[in-house]
Amino acid sequence: MIRAFLKKVGLLPNKSTTSSGPLSHQGPVIIPRSEHGISRTGISENALKVLYRLHKHGFGAYLVGGGVRDLLLGLHPKDFDVVTDATPDEVRRVFRNCRLIGRRFRLAHVFFGSDIVEVATFRGKMDEPSDDISHSDKGMILRDNVYGNIAQDVWRRDFTINALYYNIADFSIVDYTGGYADIKAKRMRMIGQPHERYREDPVRMLRAVRFACKVGFELPKELVQPMIEMKELIGHVSAARLFEEMMKMFHSGAAHDVYEHLLRNELFGELFPVTNECLQQPSYPTHELLKIVFENTDKRIKEQKPVTPSFIVAALLWHPICVRAEQYMKDGMTFFPARMLAIEDMIRAQAKRISIPKRIVQGARDIWLLQMRLVRRHGKKVQLLMTEARFRAAFDFLEIRAKSGEPVQDLATWWKEYIEGDNEIRRNLIKSLGQKKTRRPRRKKSDTQHD
Ligand code: ATP
Ligand code: MG
Repeated sequence: MIRAFLKKVGLLPNKSTTSSGPLSHQGPVIIPRSEHGISRTGISENALKVLYRLHKHGFGAYLVGGGVRDLLLGLHPKDFDVVTDATPDEVRRVFRNCRLIGRRFRLAHVFFGSDIVEVATFRGKMDEPSDDISHSDKGMILRDNVYGNIAQDVWRRDFTINALYYNIADFSIVDYTGGYADIKAKRMRMIGQPHERYREDPVRMLRAVRFACKVGFELPKELVQPMIEMKELIGHVSAARLFEEMMKMFHSGAAHDVYEHLLRNELFGELFPVTNECLQQPSYPTHELLKIVFENTDKRIKEQKPVTPSFIVAALLWHPICVRAEQYMKDGMTFFPARMLAIEDMIRAQAKRISIPKRIVQGARDIWLLQMRLVRRHGKKVQLLMTEARFRAAFDFLEIRAKSGEPVQDLATWWKEYIEGDNEIRRNLIKSLGQKKTRRPRRKKSDTQHD
C-alpha cells in the first residue's frame, strides 16, 4: 500500500517523472514574494476579500490552480479558486453571502453580486479506503469528502502547473511538486501516474489538452499515449460534465488548437462521434468548416466578443445532418422532411455523449432551418427573413460554409450584396433571380442538395 502511494505521488522513479525529475515529497519549496512576480493587483478584488477574511479569522487561505498558473504566465485568469483549511461549515460561518454546493466535492460559493468566489477545503489522502471516497467499478472516483491539509491536498491535483498555492499570509508561493520550475520550463507534468490519474477521472485527458493549448505548452508523450489507450473512458463521464468541459474548451481562446489536438489524440470521436464519422469519410468539407469556426471563435475571445455556443453546435452537426438527410432521400423521402428528421436524429445522437442545454440546441436548429430558407428568395420573404432573430448567425454560417468549400458561394455573395445594398440594389438583386430561379427546381429523389 505504502509503495503504491509513493509510486502514485511520484516518489518512486517511473517513466513519467524521470524525464523531468521525480516529484518531491520532501516538503514544499517556498518562493518568496520578492522572487515570483505575482502582484495583488492581478487578483480580483473579491478573491482578495475572501482570502483576507479567512486569514483574519485564523484560517489558512491560498489562491490555487488556474489563477496562480495564469498570473505566472502573464495571462489574465478567468477565475480565482481559493483553498483553505476551514471546513465548508466554518467558511459559511465566516461569510454571510455564502452557499454550500456540490455532492462529489462540497464547496463554498461566496457571492458578490453576480461574481462568485469558489472556496474549497483542503482534501485528504486517497491511499486509504474510506467511506467518504467511493470508486466506480472502472476505477473512477465518484465521491470524496475527506478533508485534509495542504500537504495532502496537493497530491490530489492534476498537473504540477495547477498545484501552486499563493499564500495570503506572506504572499509567497508554496510549491510541493516542482510546478514553478515546470511553468518556467513550459512543461506539462501529471502529478502521479497518468494512466492512474486518467482512470480516476477521465476528464483529466480533456483538461490536459485544454491547458496545454491555452498556455502554449507541448503535451509530452507520457500524457498523450495513455489518452489514446484509454479514450473510451470518456464515455463513462456524465453528459452534463462533458458539456461543462466542452464549453471551457470553446472559450479557452485556443479552441482551434484544442480541436486539432483532440483529433490527433483520438479524443474528438469520443466527444462528437457523428461529426467524427464525417471527418473519417469526407463527402463534405467538415474539417475546413470546423477549422474556420474554431479560428473565428478564438479571434472573438481575443477581441473579448461573446461566443455563441449554438453556432459551434450548428457547425459540428451540420454535415452529419446533410449526410443523414441524403440517406433519407435515397430511401424516397423528399427534401424538407428528410432534413427535419436528420436534424432530430443528429441531436439525439449527440445528446448521448454531451448534454447540450435545450436553448443552445434550439439556436442551432434555427441556424440549420434558416440555411434552407436562405435559398428561397421570394420578394417580400427576403425582407421578412432579415427580421428573424437568428438571421445574422445564419448568414455568417452560410458564408463560412462557402469559405470551407461547399458550393454555396453564389448564394452567400447574393445575400452579402443584399444586406449591404440600398433599396435599388436590393430591387435589382431580387429581379436578377427571375421568377423561375427563385422557385426550387424539382429534383429527383436521389439528388444531393447542398443547401
Ligand atoms: P481554469 O479555471 O482556467 O479552467 P483551473 O486550473 O483553475 O483552470 P479549475 O477547474 O478551476 O481549473 O480547478 C481548479 C484547480 O482544482 C485546478 O487547477 C486543479 O488543481 C484542481 N482540479 C480541478 N479539476 C481537477 C481534476 N479533475 N482532477 C484533479 N485536480 C483538479
Ligand atoms: Mg479555475
